[in-house]
Amino acid sequence: MSDLLVAGGQVLRPDLTVERADVLVDGETGDIADVAEPGTVDAPETLDASDGLVIPGLVNAHTHVAMTLLRGYADDKPLDAWLQEDIWPVEAELTADDIEAGAELGIVEMIRSGTTAFSDMYFHVDRIADAVERAGVRAVLGHTAVTVGKDDEAARADCQRSLDVANELDGAADGRVATTFQPHSLTTVGEEYLREFVPKAREADLSIHFHANETENEVDPIVDEHGVRPLEYADDLDLLGEDTYVAHGVHVDEAEIDLLADTGTGVAHCPASNMKLASGMAPVQALREAGVTVGIGTDGAASNNDLDAFDEVRDAAMIGKLAAEDASAVPAEAVVEMVTRGGADLLGFDGGRVAAGSNADLAVVDLTAPHLTPAHDLVSHLAYAVRGGDVRHTVCDGEVVMRDREVLTLDESAVRERASEHARDLVGRAEGDA
Ligand SMILES: [Zn+2]
Repeated sequence: MSDLLVAGGQVLRPDLTVERADVLVDGETGDIADVAEPGTVDAPETLDASDGLVIPGLVNAHTHVAMTLLRGYADDKPLDAWLQEDIWPVEAELTADDIEAGAELGIVEMIRSGTTAFSDMYFHVDRIADAVERAGVRAVLGHTAVTVGKDDEAARADCQRSLDVANELDGAADGRVATTFQPHSLTTVGEEYLREFVPKAREADLSIHFHANETENEVDPIVDEHGVRPLEYADDLDLLGEDTYVAHGVHVDEAEIDLLADTGTGVAHCPASNMKLASGMAPVQALREAGVTVGIGTDGAASNNDLDAFDEVRDAAMIGKLAAEDASAVPAEAVVEMVTRGGADLLGFDGGRVAAGSNADLAVVDLTAPHLTPAHDLVSHLAYAVRGGDVRHTVCDGEVVMRDREVLTLDESAVRERASEHARDLVGRAEGDA
């Protein structure tokens, strides 16, 4: 691959200042080689960033990408009823082909809205990895283990599968795939299995990603059974640490926030999902003040209902202020940092920054839209006004994956058609069985 120059635009730097610069990408390494004065460097291939803002590719820190197939299938119910009555019966019918079709759809949607990396929890993960490889994006993947409702043999096999998948797929897609061990949550995986398998994950040096403290219903049973808060229970199981991030972290008390900070455990904040399922408001300002690394996730498309990280950034700022009852809480700089550096740090990628030496994972936002005029403060625009549809180009690992709004790595119309067919057949099977 030849060197690439992203030229003629303004650039968001790691300190969140904006300057006019050209970004030189090393075609060999896929890293940013230089952020240079405009017009001072050259490359065989150019990407036009004029009237645009070059930003780090956004990081979706928590999703279930194949759930795009269930977008709009069931809405307006609380988490437990939604899962049990609608989502789980359909998920039980999902085939590997369905998951690949749904993953491709979700990845196309993310590329089109400037997301270059995502952290996923699901199953048939090899097929998701295939989609990631073809699409040219970056992902942290894993098989999500659930033991409730299973006999001992099936429960242990599911946990073992999560370990095996994490070991096997790490480094796939030319190193663009990393992995995590994934107990679904502290209430859906039994204590005996956590006691058996978490040490194995630690021994294999695997990162860990699980759902925690999403609703009150995830807190109360732990307190009743173990006499401690969920994250204290998680700490006792050796689940917390610098290689761990939890999804949601909505209902966390002060001691739990300190525990997250002290152990270096990160949080993938999912504001739209938390609002839609009325799960509650994560104390993001308090988490950040305590020094917890916070990223931003969309969660699955069925509880959002899109994978546009710009929507999520705006929601994070809004709900962060409401939760803190303070309009100065979770400001624009905070949410922009969370969806770039914060997410990259959680996922363990050397990205989220437009700086020499970082992964060349980039998005170019077109600034010519009426809703981005005037341009007093581009960081404010990124937080509050930019939409996914404003992204003109997307680059991952030095490769252009979308140019002038055309996705180059996947055939978008074929992906949409295939996903629609799979979604229709899937729901037909699930409802036929009911
Ligand atoms: Zn989730």
